[in-house]
Amino acid sequence: MAYQILADCINCDMCAPECPNAAISLQQVAISNERSKRIFQIDAQLCTECEGYYQQPTCVEVCPIDVVIKA
Ligand code: SF4
Ligand code: SF4
Repeated sequence: MAYQILADCINCDMCAPECPNAAISLQQVAISNERSKRIFQIDAQLCTECEGYYQQPTCVEVCPIDVVIKA
């Protein structure tokens, strides 16, 4: 399982430095057929839901606008 970041992300960079697995990075993401933008994304292969590091997923905890959700 992993978490994902919604397209409403404002790139505040609060989450990426906190991830114990360096799973969060800026990526170009399609938000419609014609538009895309660079926002932070979670690599599902690297995300372990913070198991062994934190009680709760730390990216969810620190996100100020609650755009990190369970994938
Ligand atoms: S849940 Fe934890 S391991 Fe997964 S992306 Fe968020 S901070 Fe990283
Ligand atoms: S903390 Fe939330 S708004 Fe900020 S970069 Fe991460 S996902 Fe985006």
